[in-house]
Amino acid sequence: MRVLTSMFDWFGLGKSSGARIACYHCGETARESQVLYVPFNGQQQPVCCRGCLTILKTVEKNLLTDAYLAERQAPSGK
Ligand SMILES: [Zn+2]
Repeated sequence: MRVLTSMFDWFGLGKSSGARIACYHCGETARESQVLYVPFNGQQQPVCCRGCLTILKTVEKNLLTDAYLAERQAPSGK
């Protein structure tokens, strides 16, 4: 079923397609072709889905970048 495999590849569902990139927000890996990019803290950051994209956009929009980055570096919750 060579044609079917190519179709899956075309839709980004093929097992063989591309590198995987870790989401900037949650760390989930996503295929390169499915990763979204959002401008955050002066750089384009990769995210795995619209949910993470929205979170980063909201943080940026509300000027909470510093708080967000501080939170990321905290070992675990308080
Ligand atoms: Zn994510």
